[in-house]
Amino acid sequence: MVSSLSDIQSRLQQLRNVPPLLLKSSLPFSSVSIRKDFQQLKELADTIRSDAVQDALLVAAKSERADRSDLHRDGRREIRKRRRPPSPDSPQPYIPYDKRSTSLFPVTNDDPTPLRADELADYIREFNRTNPCKLHIWTRTRGATQLSNPAVVRFTIRDVLVCYITMAYTPEDPVLVTENVTAFGPREKKSPHSQSDFLVYQSLSQQIARMLQSHPRVSFQTLMNLMCAYEGIFIDRCTSCERVLPAEGHVPPVVRLWIDASKESEKGRWEPRHSSCPQT
Ligand SMILES: [Zn+2]
Repeated sequence: MVSSLSDIQSRLQQLRNVPPLLLKSSLPFSSVSIRKDFQQLKELADTIRSDAVQDALLVAAKSERADRSDLHRDGRREIRKRRRPPSPDSPQPYIPYDKRSTSLFPVTNDDPTPLRADELADYIREFNRTNPCKLHIWTRTRGATQLSNPAVVRFTIRDVLVCYITMAYTPEDPVLVTENVTAFGPREKKSPHSQSDFLVYQSLSQQIARMLQSHPRVSFQTLMNLMCAYEGIFIDRCTSCERVLPAEGHVPPVVRLWIDASKESEKGRWEPRHSSCPQT
């Protein structure tokens, strides 16, 4: 297990220079080497997504959490020492000025308290009673009774999509923090860590990742509010170009843009947009 992880780390190091190289189209290099680079990137991505490596990463994360020694602090110092100044070609890190204004989720004063791991089962029961969308706790082994960590929840909109939501928590901080959401077609039989074969679900996974990045500790309840807005993903018209399918391409509106209520009597709403259409 350790050797497979360290192999991945060394391959990652080797490939670090590839993306900037690919962007420099003026460089005189043959298309054969580009193809080779892409192939290596793809193989590495496939390896990381494989069940064996995902299992190893889970075990590693668990053992890191269980180990309360000073290893972590020393590791951090080590990383700081090794960090190089950014090369002039690499983009500058983006530092959000104000978390509130950059969140793509609605932020209101009457938001519910973020859901904790021990409240998940009750929440799911109530959610399934009152929603057309359904939630189930997903376990790798049939009949497991304890919530795993990270916890994986399957979200289903019948005949439309299935999403696996991976959430982490700790005994000290039991609030569920969403790490990842992966979308699949309703009849795809794939593991939560893999990727859909369909472009629409791949785009949806990327879009939700973008939203989580804008608000990393968004509550599970607020995330569910977004997820339920995808019920009409194949019939909703984009509110910018007013089409279901964009002028170019075949991906329906995977973006949901939060529009605050303009009057007090109104409620805010999610508006469908194509990722290629204006997002304002
Ligand atoms: Zn559009």
